[in-house]
Amino acid sequence: MAYEISDSIRGSIWGLAAGDALGATLEFASRTEVVRKYGQHTDITGGGWMNLPPGAWTDDTELMLAMALGIAEDPGSPIPGVAKRLVQWYRSNPPDIGHLTRSALSLYLATGCWKKAGSLTEERFRPRAAGNGGLMRISPVGLAYHRQAALRDRWAAELTAMTHADQLCQFLSVVYCAMVGCCVGGMPDRKAAYRAALAHGWRQHPGVEPQVRARLEAVDGLTYDELRGTGYVLDCFVASVWCFLHQPSLEDAILAAVNLGDDADTTGAVTGGLAGAYYGYGALPARWVERLTSGERLDEAAQGILRVAMGYTGA
Ligand SMILES: [Mg+2]
Repeated sequence: MAYEISDSIRGSIWGLAAGDALGATLEFASRTEVVRKYGQHTDITGGGWMNLPPGAWTDDTELMLAMALGIAEDPGSPIPGVAKRLVQWYRSNPPDIGHLTRSALSLYLATGCWKKAGSLTEERFRPRAAGNGGLMRISPVGLAYHRQAALRDRWAAELTAMTHADQLCQFLSVVYCAMVGCCVGGMPDRKAAYRAALAHGWRQHPGVEPQVRARLEAVDGLTYDELRGTGYVLDCFVASVWCFLHQPSLEDAILAAVNLGDDADTTGAVTGGLAGAYYGYGALPARWVERLTSGERLDEAAQGILRVAMGYTGA
């Protein structure tokens, strides 16, 4: 585990980008296709459906950076700074924007109101509104507000709901950020961190459906073959937490996640954001760190988040 808060924060930001860049090669391939084509995919090679150059990342990292920089700009009121960056990215015409994110951003530009944009998008996509596009970008909240549970819960839910207002999306972002917070805070026992985060989640959201609750309580007992790397936020969360809990290193956790295929970049990103906070930047394989092409952007975000994590008290 990471012993320095700066190493933990940098590890989370870089870990998310590495998981994204590794998984991008495999996005939309089935688990069987991944095994047939690669055996195990272990290096950042680019390619995939977007034909990325090696070392490039996708929307997951771009949107995580938007969160991180928006929070660093104004930790007391991060939505305007995040919004400005989401809109900038949307206007750059990215090839890989998710359906819910696209809908929410276009509704925001039409109405000027995130609450409306998020809730109209949720209505429009129900019962398939619980995508993983909020969870994949939310890790900076767990890093920045790790010492302030109330602020962490508030911004995990509100920054997710800008595009993913579904209650399950908001709830899982709250639990995920609580776990990330435990890791930054130096909790050594991964399973204890998960139990603490879940217990916190149940207290904050007592109305969670029993079948969701049962699935989250059973994560530890699953086997790898039972995981699904889909775009459904609960599948994505369960797979990422399982890889974090059951693999012995940061490298193994990220590789287990991306090799599930399917929405591999996002499963990799969500796993990397969490496991990176636990193990720290120093645990990332050098061959991945050297391959990521815009590392200075990751470090700028990590430094901004570190300033908030060290100094912001909610005043
Ligand atoms: Mg992506």
